[in-house]
Amino acid sequence: MSKELRSQKKETITEKKIAENIKSILEFYQDLGFEMLPIKLAFSVQCSVKNSELRTPNSELDKEAALKALRKDIGDCKRCRLSKERTNIVFGEGNSDARLMFVGEAPGREEDSQGRPFVGDAGMLLTRLIEKMGFKRGDVYIANILKCRPPMNRDPEKDEIESCRGFVEKQIDIIKPVVLISLGRIASQTLIGNTGLKMTSIRGNFFDYKGILLMPTFHPAYLLRNPKDKWLTWNDAQKVLEKLKEVT
Ligand code: URA
Repeated sequence: MSKELRSQKKETITEKKIAENIKSILEFYQDLGFEMLPIKLAFSVQCSVKNSELRTPNSELDKEAALKALRKDIGDCKRCRLSKERTNIVFGEGNSDARLMFVGEAPGREEDSQGRPFVGDAGMLLTRLIEKMGFKRGDVYIANILKCRPPMNRDPEKDEIESCRGFVEKQIDIIKPVVLISLGRIASQTLIGNTGLKMTSIRGNFFDYKGILLMPTFHPAYLLRNPKDKWLTWNDAQKVLEKLKEVT
């Protein structure tokens, strides 16, 4: 094959790769419900093409943009009855590119009033666990199955979980952590997809959540009531740390 032909072929392959990458980025945003491209994405596509270093939706910038778009999509949500009594939607917070993500059940009183996850007493315990694991709170991502507080902190109803679970699933899909820690029965059962599971039999064991390692452990609010079980959660956290070390 002549030098000219080889270089033409190389160019065609590069163009094909660029087109495929752009298509996959557009499909990703379409899946998230975008009708228009966010400026940052348009910019990143432009930049990457110029640098022959195409960004994928996995880059930190795109994850941040995708999370923002998802929050926008939730809007002033009225998809279920919880909207009537909530003060704030608690979307979630943390590092959009986190390797470790925590999923709780639903905002409590303090979270509802501040619009941030795990900022009450249970949240303080969770923050201590995160720090004991060697991270800062901002290194990980924290979200809940429900984005609105159930009145009097009652258990979420099945239909409330169904109308909200898609959002945490999208958050996980965007962040793509190496390990997910589900806190308590509701979060664990929802992510594993089995409402019959008991925390005492599942905690401490890894499950598969769409290719991501999922470790169910006790909810910090349970641990505040049963401090003698804290060491079990610490054991679960050690297993998670080992996995995080293994997976580079
Ligand atoms: N309990 C939860 O499950 N989530 C919070 O954000 C706070 C308390």
